[in-house]
Amino acid sequence: MSVIYERVALIGLGLIASSMAHATKRAGLARHIAGHAKTAATRATALEIGFCDSVHETAADAVRDADLIVLAVPVGAMGTVSAEIAPHLKPGATITDVGSVKAAVVEAVAPHLPEGVHFVPGHPLAGTEHSGPRSGFATLFDNRWTILTPAEGGDAAASDRLVSYWQGLGAHVDQMDAAHHDLVLAVTSHTPHLIAYTMVGVADHLRRVTESEVIKYSAAGFRDFTRIAASDPTMWRDVFLTNKEATLDILGRFTEELFVLQRAIRMGDGDALFDYFTRTRAIRRGIIEAGQDTAAPDFGRGKAGG
Ligand code: NAP
Repeated sequence: MSVIYERVALIGLGLIASSMAHATKRAGLARHIAGHAKTAATRATALEIGFCDSVHETAADAVRDADLIVLAVPVGAMGTVSAEIAPHLKPGATITDVGSVKAAVVEAVAPHLPEGVHFVPGHPLAGTEHSGPRSGFATLFDNRWTILTPAEGGDAAASDRLVSYWQGLGAHVDQMDAAHHDLVLAVTSHTPHLIAYTMVGVADHLRRVTESEVIKYSAAGFRDFTRIAASDPTMWRDVFLTNKEATLDILGRFTEELFVLQRAIRMGDGDALFDYFTRTRAIRRGIIEAGQDTAAPDFGRGKAGG
């Protein structure tokens, strides 16, 4: 793979940015990676690991002369960071983000950007429940999807270049509008996370059970919920505050379906339950056939359950 951007600036140096840096170096996609994070501790860790070529105390210094700027901070911080870097962006540069919500990020970022800078919002559908600069790894985006949501009438060459960059990071790339992205993600990620948080919260309220059996006998179902519910609280607070409409819509539908199943259980309607579970099983098969998960028992984690 050849160099796509001479200089890439990463603002935020957590799981996603550090993984992008590792993957950029793996494929030789940039000559220089500049980085900035809010705290001195994170900046020092990034330097120690060495996934950035230079680490800067201010975001303004990090973006100077950058051809690609990646905002990899929590969704709620995107607006403030954009305002801070806007006067220092190089004309002709591309700015993107990796936020899990798109319409709210566009609203927060776009008004700050000067003419001649191309904004191509993005979201890699890849992650783990870990955060911070030590949690990143080069293969995070391999065979995963990244969704770009360029505005209509935006610079096509800037979008195409960013598509090539994400492909170089190992991802498949799709494009759609920001509102559609937010609805799709409310179904596939945001609402499932909320349900996981809720289920773990329910167990927590049943203190009598939690203190003993829940931990000891945590079978795959509950264990998977706890893994998801261990995700970063700041990130997920921001997701629900900024993808409010779509999440509430899907949550409403979820509640209706839950009542249908609740009624089937109460009425002893085995046929209804069997048909429902047969349909959902087909969706799981579709995900495996699309290469987005493994068919291995226990999601391939083995007996130790990592
Ligand atoms: P993370 O590991 O918690 O890292 C966040 C980084 O942002 C940290 O380096 C933090 O710096 C920095 N930061 C926060 N506020 C800042 C500010 N005002 N100025 C400069 N730096 C600031 O988070 P992440 O998982 O990489 O998530 C980053 C973005 O990716 C979020 O928008 C999230 O929605 C999106 N995303 C996450 C996942 C996932 O599964 N985690 C997947 C796809 C997309 P300090 O460490 O110094 O505080």
